Amino acid sequence: MLWRAIILFVGPGFLIAGCYFLTVGRPSQNVQAAPVATAAERDFDIDALHAGVEEGLVPASAARTLKDRSRLSTACDERARQLGTLLTETDRIIVRPPFVIAGNVSETKLDHQYTQTVLPTMRALNLAYFDHAPDEPLTLLLYSNERAYRDTSWQLDHRNTASYYGYYIRTDRRIVANIGTGDGTLSHELTHALAHFDFPNMPEWFDEGLASLYEEADFSEDGLQLVGLSNWRLNHLLNAMQKRRLGTLESLVSAREIRVERQAVEYAHARYFCLYLQERGLLPFFYRKFRGHAASDPSGLRTLCEMFGTDNLDSVDRNYRQWVIALYEQVRRPVPHE
Ligand SMILES: [Zn+2]
Repeated sequence: MLWRAIILFVGPGFLIAGCYFLTVGRPSQNVQAAPVATAAERDFDIDALHAGVEEGLVPASAARTLKDRSRLSTACDERARQLGTLLTETDRIIVRPPFVIAGNVSETKLDHQYTQTVLPTMRALNLAYFDHAPDEPLTLLLYSNERAYRDTSWQLDHRNTASYYGYYIRTDRRIVANIGTGDGTLSHELTHALAHFDFPNMPEWFDEGLASLYEEADFSEDGLQLVGLSNWRLNHLLNAMQKRRLGTLESLVSAREIRVERQAVEYAHARYFCLYLQERGLLPFFYRKFRGHAASDPSGLRTLCEMFGTDNLDSVDRNYRQWVIALYEQVRRPVPHE
């Protein structure tokens, strides 16, 4: 009787413990037991780790793109050779795939433009926006003064460039710029050129808004981000607002292209809208979302409405105009003396 009571009382405990041991206590064949590190695995060779750092920075996929890179290098060399027959004898040419850079300055100065402006700008834009690297040569013709810039523009493109400092010919993937006035124009045109590889169908309002945002910009302290700043285009925007001649944000975004006679105002409108998005941390998000939906939303209007959670841009437009006025008040405020 006593044994029966003991078995009835203790038995279920043994059964449960037994089942627990069978299912959990022993690692089943499907479950990987956590490996125990041996002493040899715990002691790392610091020299070997250091030696592997550089090697480890080469992405695993690099080998697959070697062929593409060599094709691009060959195309750049060929572009440089052709340029040599078109430019004046004193112009210099350097090849830094995907770029072929030429102009009326020394090779050292061209290389300086490449390392100090072109590369950092491309790196920051790639991080924020672009996923498709150039797969064709991109030519940069950089001139140190107005005269040389104008002569080349006329000689190559029969352009009268009196009213602007640079341009980009999309069909040739070629920038011509006067860099004597600073890097702003080069950054503007470079943004166009790189964006067209990544988002070829971007509408003009966004193409010009983004490019002109970076004509006046600073790098973040770590050099990884480009931050657009206010510039002279604000006057065009304020002037149009004051005269009640600024169209709605929705009309800017919906228009197929920017009309030449409205160019100054509409570039400013688009640029400051990009700055407005940048200040809210929304610009890279909008770019990528828009690029992904551009086939069904070619103007970007629907993507903007979705992003702001609204049916139309009226409330965003009001907010944007208030922000422009506040920005003007901020930039015109005199800097206090220390
Ligand atoms: Zn432009």
